[in-house]
Amino acid sequence: LSTINAVSIDKLSQNFPLCMQNLHMTLRANSHLKHYGRLQYTLFLKGIGLSLEECIVFWRRSFKLITDDKFHKEYKYNIRHVYGDVGGDANRRGRGYTPYSCQKILTEPLPGPGQAHGCPYRTFTVENLTGLLQRVGIQDREVLNGVKDDVKKQRYHVACNRVFEFAHKKEIKKVKDEGTWSATDLDTIVHPNTYFKRSWLLKH
Ligand code: SF4
Repeated sequence: LSTINAVSIDKLSQNFPLCMQNLHMTLRANSHLKHYGRLQYTLFLKGIGLSLEECIVFWRRSFKLITDDKFHKEYKYNIRHVYGDVGGDANRRGRGYTPYSCQKILTEPLPGPGQAHGCPYRTFTVENLTGLLQRVGIQDREVLNGVKDDVKKQRYHVACNRVFEFAHKKEIKKVKDEGTWSATDLDTIVHPNTYFKRSWLLKH
């Protein structure tokens, strides 16, 4: 993952959890993301190892409809702040902010109109959630019905883990059969960055 840069995010997004895939697709569709979405996504990207410089390039290129001047004035500072390059108290200087866990994302206020942050398993209607899952390649009826049951019971991270297990079925079987991964390596996922890291490791 040492070669991760602004250009690789499109491809890597296939391994992102649904919350981050949703932010990525919204960003690509609108060439923009609102504040909380930007914050949630920037923290996640920082967590997967995107450098501050590459993160700035990523957002600058993604926000196609605004001028350099507007970008520098209104957006760049916040990215640098997240990385601890500017502002914050002495504690955060140089380190910045920690990527959000599922717990944090799941307990935030729900997104309003035009906002895309949060966990889709919680924030989407069942119909929209099913549509989103189908768009990212989850077509299996049994899995989709399982997700419906999970979200009805408000077990959002269970739904997310169900999708992960389905999307990585072959790979999980392989590491189990070969004994290369222990049970702890396959613990329930409770952080979007763990989702990505595990997905990437299993697929490579
Ligand atoms: Fe993202 Fe966590 Fe929700 Fe999965 S359960 S979509 S990783 S916030």
